[in-house]
Amino acid sequence: MEQLRWGTPDRLRRLLCELVSWRSMTLTAGEREFASKVQAKLQELQYFQENPRHLGLHDADLGRRFLTGLYKHVEAKETIVLLSHFDTVNTEEYGDLEEYAYQPEELTKLLLNRINELDGDAQRDLTSGEYLFGRGTMDMKMGLAMHMGLLEKATVEKWPINILLLTVPDEEVNSAGMRAAVTKLLELKDKHTLSYKLFLNGEPVFTQEPGDRSFYVYSGSIGKIMPSALFYGKETHVGEPLSGITAPYIASFLTQRMEWNSSLQEKVKGETTPLPVTLQQKDLRLDYSTQTPYRSSALYNVFLMNRNAEEIMEIFERVAIEAAGTCNQAYKEICLKQSVKPVGEVRVLRYEDLQTHAVRKFGIQFLEDRKAQVQANTNWDDREKSLRIADSLMIECQELAPAIVLLFAPPYYPAVNSSDDDLVKNCVQYVREKGLEKFNLPVKQVHYFNGISDLSYVNYQDEGEGWTAFKANTPVWGSSYSIPFDEMAKLNAPVLNVGPLGKDAHKRTERLHIKSAFEEVPSLVEGMIKMISKYTSYCLQK
Ligand SMILES: [Zn+2]
Repeated sequence: MEQLRWGTPDRLRRLLCELVSWRSMTLTAGEREFASKVQAKLQELQYFQENPRHLGLHDADLGRRFLTGLYKHVEAKETIVLLSHFDTVNTEEYGDLEEYAYQPEELTKLLLNRINELDGDAQRDLTSGEYLFGRGTMDMKMGLAMHMGLLEKATVEKWPINILLLTVPDEEVNSAGMRAAVTKLLELKDKHTLSYKLFLNGEPVFTQEPGDRSFYVYSGSIGKIMPSALFYGKETHVGEPLSGITAPYIASFLTQRMEWNSSLQEKVKGETTPLPVTLQQKDLRLDYSTQTPYRSSALYNVFLMNRNAEEIMEIFERVAIEAAGTCNQAYKEICLKQSVKPVGEVRVLRYEDLQTHAVRKFGIQFLEDRKAQVQANTNWDDREKSLRIADSLMIECQELAPAIVLLFAPPYYPAVNSSDDDLVKNCVQYVREKGLEKFNLPVKQVHYFNGISDLSYVNYQDEGEGWTAFKANTPVWGSSYSIPFDEMAKLNAPVLNVGPLGKDAHKRTERLHIKSAFEEVPSLVEGMIKMISKYTSYCLQK
């Protein structure tokens, strides 16, 4: 048998270091070039020389591309999708070592000379020699390296199952890569008569709490959504503060109630989502002036397990109505004391209601023009654009002010979970048994990967129409942001994440556990895929 290019721990380690050396921070040229470099690497494999059309580069957005590589067994329909992302977060925190952030072997040696700069846990790991440091080692170029190794092995050993490697950009920001890939997965399914059995991600193990050293497999992925608000007050001059109402004043009532609000926390299967928190609160006016600020905004982060967008909007609306009530009461009391007539009551409305009101008043063309004007500002991201669209409608509909306009700002990662799926149960059981047997490694199951992942987009389980609330209340929906919910539902296969142990993702001390990454996890995943291929051919015979 020909020798495998990526078939030993040492070779896999060299492959990882090469992938890390191709810098690919989100929204950089490196990210745009990365997929074609992986393609060139896979073209070295004999299988893809014989089947060049099984490799494909496809457009995501902004010149970025994602890669698919299909190993197709002659008879098999059952297909496992190996999913990874190749973008990484920035590297400023490396300081004068920044150029080494992409050279794991060198960086790991260099850090030894300044070990006192690291925290205790990182110091211990560094001196143990068991870890490789560097940007993207853990999150998640190792996952991709492992998948490339498995794909090669499948083609050489002719595994009786199909393997589709999918690696995408932009996971760290908006998941534009994965959202674009959903349609491609459906296309490939038809073209090659594939039946998707499992979406297997290789994100690294994240600690559940500081100091946690356990090894986890994840049978789902936590969701994230950003209920946001535009606060639209009434302007006045600082000399007459009570002839208006400032947006920051209104905002303070809602932010106070949204931050750490436990009605937006979920407990499912013994796991709990982190509490909501404010991600941004700011004035929409860009310069200082003595006109009081009457337009401001806030973005709140909410994690999900079972809930969908409609349920979040309902809770958000309840909280906002309560906030507006208290705000109105406080304002009224001050006006009474000061013998001033109040300018009105703060109302709460959903973005969709504001949009309907504006269309009724000015027509649909007005709405489209306003949206296009905002979209033309290419230096604004989707969050800024969302707030600016709502703002530009409110400016023309001041009869609604003062008001809190409720909306969703991208991104939205729906929660996904396959813990009750039989195949996933078998996989978890397999990794548990073999982990102990082969490596003396205790394996724990977590139902929701806590690091946010692209698995959110390969499966959509909501039976109702919960996502339509997202569509209707996301001002940039359909122009600069969308989620292919219908296509996601069609993919219809369970999800699982099995990846290597690492620590401190997104930090200067990002590091990968060498034995876990190059020996244990690749061996466990290989065995698990072979177990699935036996299981599926057994089902076929039945
Ligand atoms: Zn990641």
